Formats: sequence, structure tokens, C-alpha cells
Amino acid sequence: MLQNVVVKSPIQLKDHDPAEDFGLKKEKTRQATRRLLERIGGLQAKLYANTRRSVLVVLQGMDASGKDGATKSLLEFVNPAGVEVTDFKAPSSEELAHDFLWRVHHAVPRYGRIGVFNRSHYEDVLVVRVMKLATKEVWAPRFEQINRFELNLHESGYLLLKFYLHISSDEQAERLRARIQDPAKNWKFEGADLRMRERWNDFMKAYEDAINLTSPKHARWHIIPADKKWVRDHLIAKYVCAAMEEMELSWPKPKEDLSKYQVK
Ligand code: AMP
Ligand code: MG
Repeated sequence: MLQNVVVKSPIQLKDHDPAEDFGLKKEKTRQATRRLLERIGGLQAKLYANTRRSVLVVLQGMDASGKDGATKSLLEFVNPAGVEVTDFKAPSSEELAHDFLWRVHHAVPRYGRIGVFNRSHYEDVLVVRVMKLATKEVWAPRFEQINRFELNLHESGYLLLKFYLHISSDEQAERLRARIQDPAKNWKFEGADLRMRERWNDFMKAYEDAINLTSPKHARWHIIPADKKWVRDHLIAKYVCAAMEEMELSWPKPKEDLSKYQVK
């Protein structure tokens, strides 16, 4: 049986193969992805014109799982004016002086925009849990706090699409080695990446809990097999395009009767 991408009931990550390609052919799939991305560009133009709804794409995954590459691919044909991309790094002292959702809510895109979160509020139940940056009393209630926050966004007109980029430990090792060896990639490497890598199984458990506890109908997780970049990009484009089409966006009606105007 093919693994499900959309999480509708509790999952175990060991049942999901990071190298899965669903029998897709690489070249044909790349062409199909391009067509999907062009459609997303057209849908975004309507989203931008309407300014009543917004799309929020959340990307999570281990280091080198392809969050940057996925962002670049997804936005290839969208108008940059209608996009807000936010990278979430370790919180500043100002951010730490607030509740964990403060900086996140601040980064939520304006209506009419597509927002991409490269990492997100989920770090506060992932790295914070695994690296023991807070006690369980602090992080455990966050799953429900996140659910309430995302329900609020949903009810306020946000379409939430959450993608976990699932890579294998072997593929991560390859990509981290490349970051050490390739001068064009050195800047992406941090010693901390290896300390996190040592905690691989703990991270998988934390991801599993986060995915299982925060995947209601209006804010589903998608488990994206991410060892193959062309599969990753195709699946994300497919789910974003389908969800935006379901929004039934149309061009806004003129606010007045335009037939009375003549441009001379
Ligand atoms: P990168 O995505 O490679 O630029 O790295 C960003 C780093 O910031 C990662 O190691 C994240 O785990 C870390 N980070 C992001 N959000 C948080 C957070 N809320 N608390 C602690 N570390 C975080
Ligand atoms: Mg990094």
C-alpha cells in the first residue's frame, strides 16, 4: 500500500519511506510540477486582488531536509509582491521575553498574500523539547495552544497547509557532508547541526507527536517524502494548488458601475 501523504489519523514515521516516489517518472513529473506552479501563480493573482483570504504554508523538517529548496520551487511563478517568507531562527532575547506565539503571530501574512514559514512555532515542541531548552511543563501544553492558535487563523480566513519534509538519516548525512566539502554550501553548515543529528531518534519521536497532536481537518499535516527533491517539489505544488483551487477565488466585483466611464 502506498503511504498516505495527508495525515488524517495517527501515524508512525517508520511507516513512511523518505525515498518514496509513488512510481512517478522524473522528467514527466518535473513538467507536471511546472504546470502546477504556473497555476499557483494564477491563483495567487486572484488571492492578491481579493485581500480577504490568505494562505499560510508551514515547512518543517530536519536540517538539510530541503525547506529552502521547497520554498524556492513553490514560489517560482508567483508575484513576489504577494509573498511573505519568514525564517524562524533561535529566538532573540526580545522574543524570549514574550509567549512563544508572539513572534509567530507577528509573522502571519497579510490578507491577500501567500506566507511561507521556513521553520515555525513547531520548533517550540521540537528542538525545544529534544534539546531540553524548556521543561515538559512548558512544552507539553503547547500542542493545544498551537491548535487554538491555528483554529483562530482558520476562522479568520487563513488556509493552513503544513508540510513535514521527511528525509532519511543517510540522505541528511550526504547533504551535510556536501555542506562541509562544497565552498558554495559551507555557509549553510553549523556545528550544531551535528549535535542535533546525534539526537535523530528523539527528533523523530518529537515530530511524530507534533504531527499526531496537531492535524485537525482545517490544518492538516502532509508528510512529504523528501529524499528526492523532484518528488518533494511536486507533492507540495500538488497540495497547495488543489487547496487554493478549492478556495474558489474569483476576481472581485467592481465597487461601482464601470459602464459610466470612458477613457478618452
Ligand atoms: P536554520 O534553519 O539552519 O537557519 O537554523 C535555524 C536554527 O534555529 C535551527 O537549529 C532551529 O532549530 C533553531 N530554532 C528555530 N526556532 C527555534 C526556537 N523556537 N527555539 C530554539 N531554537 C529554534
Ligand atoms: Mg541549518
